[in-house]
Amino acid sequence: MTTSTPATADRLAVAAALREIGLLLEVKGGNPYRARAYQRGAAAVEALAGDLASLVAEDRLTQVPGIGAALAAQIAELHRTGRSSTLERLRAELPPGILDLVRVPNLSVERVAALHRALGVRSVAELKAAAEAGRVRDVKGFGEKTEKKILDGITALEARGQTLLLHEALQAGELLRAWIAASPHASRVDVAGEARRRTETVDQIQLAVAADDPGTVVDHFLRLPQVTAVVEREGGRCHVRLAGGVHASVEAVAPAEHVPTLVRLTGSSAHSEKLQARAQAEGLVLSERALMPERGRRPVALADEAALYRRLGLQYVPPELREDEGEVEAAAAGTLPEDLLEEGDLRGLVHCHTHYSDGKHSVEEMARGAEELGMEYITITDHSPTAHYAGGLSEDRLKQQWEDIDRAQEKVNVRLLRGTESDILADGALDYPDRILERLDVVIASIHNRYKMGEDEMTRRLVRAMRLPVFKIWGHALGRYVRTRPPIACRVEEVLDAAAAAKAAIEISGEPRRLDMEPRWVRKARERRLRFVISTDAHSVRALQNFRYGVSMARRGWVRRGEVLNALPAPAFAAAVKPMQ
Ligand SMILES: [Zn+2]
Ligand SMILES: [Zn+2]
Repeated sequence: MTTSTPATADRLAVAAALREIGLLLEVKGGNPYRARAYQRGAAAVEALAGDLASLVAEDRLTQVPGIGAALAAQIAELHRTGRSSTLERLRAELPPGILDLVRVPNLSVERVAALHRALGVRSVAELKAAAEAGRVRDVKGFGEKTEKKILDGITALEARGQTLLLHEALQAGELLRAWIAASPHASRVDVAGEARRRTETVDQIQLAVAADDPGTVVDHFLRLPQVTAVVEREGGRCHVRLAGGVHASVEAVAPAEHVPTLVRLTGSSAHSEKLQARAQAEGLVLSERALMPERGRRPVALADEAALYRRLGLQYVPPELREDEGEVEAAAAGTLPEDLLEEGDLRGLVHCHTHYSDGKHSVEEMARGAEELGMEYITITDHSPTAHYAGGLSEDRLKQQWEDIDRAQEKVNVRLLRGTESDILADGALDYPDRILERLDVVIASIHNRYKMGEDEMTRRLVRAMRLPVFKIWGHALGRYVRTRPPIACRVEEVLDAAAAAKAAIEISGEPRRLDMEPRWVRKARERRLRFVISTDAHSVRALQNFRYGVSMARRGWVRRGEVLNALPAPAFAAAVKPMQ
């Protein structure tokens, strides 16, 4: 970013800052409504469909529900300058470790505030020491039991490590990017590493910076109040620990060195080694920060990453593919797909819940949310009766929903498709009788119970389900939750064969805790010419944005635009997923 451009923070960075203000205000105590106003404001900004820049420029922020005049001023400041004086004051007043405390399981913000006031604890380490010394139980409102629960929570937190889920990493990365970009000495800032490759979890947020004065940029970065410890620092490089325990590293280099640095920091180490070998074959040396002719002194000038790949005789390799899964070989042969799925390709949002089951919003609100994202259609797929814990719909309720869908359809342009997320029962049958299922536009079939069946039984269950003529989409296929629940046991390739025979599509879930199925299986599905739907599994309007993570996962599996059903126009999509045909 040059000095003439003011540092602006985008919607998500603004929302994250508002959330932090709300959290810090809550910890600090005082007027609880004020803290909540910030949380509400953050949610409103996250859910904004319009352009934040024009709302700010035209002074129209207060027209957004949930944003009052005071909050509007804060948002404008954040948007224009990338910083907030309120946030900076709060960060200065409260110890940086305080936000770590909020992450301890079983510990609410109110309790963090109470402990901070009564015992002066400022970090997880101090809280642990206080609890171990039996001092927490004496604080009003706490007891021995609570003290024990807090200690258990700390143990769980420590065991979990500081890995972020993809969506958390992208948000944190964007905050750091915006902060660094505010330095007049940084001309380009990129989030690199695992976050750029869109892996399901991210251990370290890495940033590559082009700078006229790398040392000054690192000095600026280290002034970020969330930096709680500097692990390592050397010139333009640093590695720090942030509040929350996440690790981040910054590598600032001269602008001419930025492209090779970004490529190195983005790809897996195996990918980078392959690139070095390619360079050698081309009579070049790819070092950490430069691509040099073997016998020359001057580095090859590179305008962008594509130029570097080109110079190595390769097609451009998108970041999500840089894993050494055959992409370098394909790029050398010219067979890397050039029509990988992109966010803009999606025309419909698939797998959306409403308040009829366990979603937060109405049919009409979800439809408007899809419309604001520029979509042509949305499938309303609430849970089926067996998922009673999730408010699964009886036949009567389902029919009521159809009327509701008809009413909403009169008010919106986006096409509403009526569907269900039907449970795959233990014996492989689907929930709801066929006479109901065949009246639906779309049926997503998912497993929600009996996860722990043995491999044989589970494989039979799935294969049997796939033979049903109503089986068209396999929802969150292997049922895993990233980090917390392993995939179901089944012979995946056998099930994929059955899906291919049934011409069923596989869902790639953008729900950030699921991100199911995994890229390695997606590629196995592609070998069988299976089709995919990119889903949101949204339980709120805001979560409709999940489709972006789904697209990332699809790209990691090398999925092309033509393989995705919800990249089709509405009539073609509806024809492809219609049950019973
Ligand atoms: Zn589900
Ligand atoms: Zn669902």
